[in-house]
Amino acid sequence: MRQSDLPRDPDRLRHNHEANPVHLIGLTQPHGVLMALEATSFTIIQVSDNTESYLGIEPQTLLGQSLLELAEPTLALQHSLETCTEQPSYVSIALTANHSPFDALIHRRCSTIIVELESASPQTAPQLTALQNKVEQAIGRLRQIDDVTDFLQTTVTEIQALTGYERVMVYQFDNRQAGAVVAEIKPAEKTAYLGLHYPATDIPTPVRQLYQQGILRYIPDLSTPQCRLIPPEAVPLDLGRAVLRGVDSCCIDYHQNMEVSALMVIALVKGDTLWGLISCHHSTPRQLPYAVRSACEVIGQLVAAELTSKVDRDELSYLSSLQTLQADLVDSIAKAKNFKQALIEPAPRLLDVVSAQGAAICLDQDITLVGDTPALEEVQALINWAMAQSTDIFHTSCLSQDYPAAIHFRAVASGLVVLKISQIRRYLILWFRPEVLQTISWAGNPDEGTHETADGSLILSPRASFQEWQETVRATALPWKPAEIANALALKHAIVGIVLNKADELAQINLELERSNRELDSFAYAASHDLKEPLRGITNFSNIILRRHSHNLDESAIKRLRTLVKLAERMDGLIDALLRFSRLGQTDLQLQPTDLNELLTDVLTGLRASSDDSAPPIQVLVPRALPTVNADPALLSEVFSNLIGNALKYTDKPQPNIEVGYLTAEEYDIEPANSHVLYVKDDGIGIRDHHFQNIFRLFKRLHERDSYGGGTGVGLTIAKKIIEHHGGRIWVESRLGEGTTFYFMLNC
Ligand code: ADP
Repeated sequence: MRQSDLPRDPDRLRHNHEANPVHLIGLTQPHGVLMALEATSFTIIQVSDNTESYLGIEPQTLLGQSLLELAEPTLALQHSLETCTEQPSYVSIALTANHSPFDALIHRRCSTIIVELESASPQTAPQLTALQNKVEQAIGRLRQIDDVTDFLQTTVTEIQALTGYERVMVYQFDNRQAGAVVAEIKPAEKTAYLGLHYPATDIPTPVRQLYQQGILRYIPDLSTPQCRLIPPEAVPLDLGRAVLRGVDSCCIDYHQNMEVSALMVIALVKGDTLWGLISCHHSTPRQLPYAVRSACEVIGQLVAAELTSKVDRDELSYLSSLQTLQADLVDSIAKAKNFKQALIEPAPRLLDVVSAQGAAICLDQDITLVGDTPALEEVQALINWAMAQSTDIFHTSCLSQDYPAAIHFRAVASGLVVLKISQIRRYLILWFRPEVLQTISWAGNPDEGTHETADGSLILSPRASFQEWQETVRATALPWKPAEIANALALKHAIVGIVLNKADELAQINLELERSNRELDSFAYAASHDLKEPLRGITNFSNIILRRHSHNLDESAIKRLRTLVKLAERMDGLIDALLRFSRLGQTDLQLQPTDLNELLTDVLTGLRASSDDSAPPIQVLVPRALPTVNADPALLSEVFSNLIGNALKYTDKPQPNIEVGYLTAEEYDIEPANSHVLYVKDDGIGIRDHHFQNIFRLFKRLHERDSYGGGTGVGLTIAKKIIEHHGGRIWVESRLGEGTTFYFMLNC
């Protein structure tokens, strides 16, 4: 049904009340007598027209008389009249004429004192004590309950036990002042109202304002005719706080349609807002003694006060659960390699961080839908629209107001939160909430029990109100709570923080790489300048001696000089390699099929040429012919030369056993299948486990500079860099005192 089809004007009640405000109704309920007194002389200036039946005196006769002459005890009454405020106070009085007892409620309204007399119910002291005990026990029970739903359900049970009303309900108002029945106790045969929602207009603003002041509304019989005030005044008496205030005809209709004859309503005022109402219904007229009503008022105040802490606690625990969820999500994103995956798995987490039913993650053209969402094309169009919004976060609980096309998918997305993660890129998260009608709990079929009158209008009833409420919340979702929006925004900050951190880490790694490259460059630079020149000098000088003065030298001196030349040349070559190595990152490898058997022979020749004559001859075992690999031979020679050189150096044995060989990928149990794992194995001094990584660091030596023939701590760094430049890796296995094996594989 469309809004315009509604036969009943939902504003009718409001209009009525705005024209005739309820507190100026000019009518009183007939279960007592209302008098207006002049505030200084206590003379009766206005009185309800039912005095005859209660006091046995005509109303006109009362006008102009002082109340003090009519009632006793005079002193107590006079004190109450002199000290009365806007807040009604109670005094028990009797008529001077016949001693009939009355409960009198006295309060002041500007320069008028309003006195309301109800026949006192014959309550004995033991009855009052029993009532007090009942109230204390009820309060004790209520205080022990933490869960808000249980608490409200116990409230209606306690109020029913105390008052005997057939149906007792708690209404809670939402931020649009619409109400919902959140707790109810009722006879089994009566229709349940629990879960039903009502439009704000069901309780007109003036009535709401009166409830806001915490008044208790008591109507013991809706069917009896109401009383007029005599004489009628041009400015009607303000009955806002009068217990006997007359009942508006709409209110009578509404309740009679619900087959209610008597009712009592207790306001639940939390802080300075009207949180809700406790509403008590009875199908026949029902009188309640003043003492019981005030006991209910006390319970109402306690419930409101307890609600503050319980609802706050509830809200707080909801908030902390939101935060836990968010922390969990952020943690996964921080650890995850795939940002999107971390967001969507497990799916409910992304939805739960803001209590949504659906979400869409948009990373440029890639859109992922989670939960209940509009169709992909609809989401795409919505994202285009959302990108045009200027804020980082945008939320609405009635999307179709801002984005009319949303009316077509209101069932899943009447509520929307848009979170822009980037201003530049199309990175967004959208959360959706369904139309509120889809989320409420239906109390039976909402159309059932709706009655139409002959003129086609819906009669006032909870079902009709429910229908009207449905119209008012069409295309609307439950509002987003500030904490949920804050959570969404915090998620953006966390994501941005994570991204920045990752960028920072990368920058840090780059920085370290740059630094180590700079170290190598400066080393290479130093080597080329400081070493190359003297080396060249040594070579040249030795060659000159060999050429011109060899006849003056004995065999061993000549041999030594030749070794010196070779050594110098080798060092020169090493420095060149180092220079090339420092530029490895920039220069291309000169890859070619390289027969490792030939390469090894050359390396060994070089090593032998540069070895000390006194040292035992270099022997290397090659258990099977080495493969041919695609590699840069000059660089690979450096690797072998260094590894074999180390095997020769780091040993205590006069004749070390060195083996150079390879294992197929299958033999080593390694991937990829067609690769070779090359190794250089020795039976030298070995390396402790915790140095397995260190030894590849630049300038890292495990021994004194001069022990084991001295070393620079550069060789393994170069070997590693060369291997990695071939796309491979190098690692070591070793046992202290038993020997070391360096393995490497190339990926070319
Ligand atoms: P250098 O040999 O010039 O000191 P390296 O980078 O080649 O530099 O080696 C680093 C350190 O690793 C050496 O100082 C040595 O302590 C240790 N090391 C290298 N190879 C072996 C090996 N085969 N056996 C025992 N220790 C070794």
